[in-house]
Amino acid sequence: MPAAPRGRNEIPPIYLPSYETKTSVHKQYVISCGESRHVGLTLFKNIWQHTLPHIQIMKPRSDLCFKCQQHREQISAAVTENEKLAAISAFTEHIQQAQNERDFYNSCIRKSKDKLSAVNIQPGHHQPNSSDLTDIHYIFDYSQLFLLPHSSQQTGPIYFVTPRRIQCFGICNSAVPIQSNFLLDENETIGKDGSRCHGPNSVISMLHEYLRTKSYGEKGAQFHCDNCAGQNKNKTMLHYLSWRCAKGFNDELNMHFMIVGHTKSMCDGCFGLARIKYIRSECQCVSDLENTIDNSASCNEVIRPPFPWYDWDSFFNRVFKGLKGISKFHHFRFTNELGVVYARETTESTEQRFDLKRPDVNVTEFLTQYPSVLAPAGLSVDRQSYLYRNVRQFVRDPHKDELCPRPL
Ligand SMILES: [Zn+2]
Repeated sequence: MPAAPRGRNEIPPIYLPSYETKTSVHKQYVISCGESRHVGLTLFKNIWQHTLPHIQIMKPRSDLCFKCQQHREQISAAVTENEKLAAISAFTEHIQQAQNERDFYNSCIRKSKDKLSAVNIQPGHHQPNSSDLTDIHYIFDYSQLFLLPHSSQQTGPIYFVTPRRIQCFGICNSAVPIQSNFLLDENETIGKDGSRCHGPNSVISMLHEYLRTKSYGEKGAQFHCDNCAGQNKNKTMLHYLSWRCAKGFNDELNMHFMIVGHTKSMCDGCFGLARIKYIRSECQCVSDLENTIDNSASCNEVIRPPFPWYDWDSFFNRVFKGLKGISKFHHFRFTNELGVVYARETTESTEQRFDLKRPDVNVTEFLTQYPSVLAPAGLSVDRQSYLYRNVRQFVRDPHKDELCPRPL
């Protein structure tokens, strides 16, 4: 690593690959000693701990940044001094950018807290003065799936089947903090059997429902989410935020995408608390899961369907086009000018203005219209019979018909 973790005045750590153990390194050491004397494993570990604590074995993790990984490999592959310096400075630049974005994320939370503590109102309670609020900060993300039925004393055979999958999408008001978790059963998503749950129509419909029922009706807001192109960073999301401002729901909105691989956010914390409670709970049906998450921590609450799924994608496609090179930008700002987006690559770079409106759009007429509603596709016959044949036996009696009913 180019530097020690922030705030620690130490030697920069050197990470060994996670498949190594202290024992395996000791073996290599013994071999390299050949005929000469060597120390035993216990003393070896002791010396390591006391004299070279900055050499560590990387912990296996799934959320590591691919770019960081590549930079690390380039540093260790560099031969000459110049190559090494170049590799280190490229890595430092990447870390610095991630750190700048992290500082910006933290400043958004702080600003939102200041604005809210000044007026003392509760989320969802639109008060006469709440429309003056700006910079309210929200973060949204998907959690891992929850599986039903779930028992803290899980029996073996259920590992070999695919139980009922419950999707969870969380939107967190970071200043309070309270996270609203949308729980979606397999038959409640836009696509069949829980599919198309991560598409723009789903994400935006839930965001829309959340802002309608849970926001303060504020003038301006800041959103953070991860860089996932399919669900968040797409033209439909940009169109939606521009439409909200042009409609007069908000005056100014900002959307920020975190750097790939450095996207840890408050959502993960709330999901983590929900999961700890879930692992220790009995959940036989969706309402059990709902209670479990509701009671997992004061920051977690649940939103359940029905709420409308809108076809935002086709609604906006008629009047807007996409933004070329959307992937290189991380920050977007929207004002009441329909279709206009101001984009920045990093927090420091200058804003560029783009107009995504197609020519000859009748703005006044468009703003009176609304997208059409999509009906959830439900469960396929195959999935129904699978649940009935393979999963029903693991569900306790009163919930069998709810989770795995006889196929129609
Ligand atoms: Zn990275």
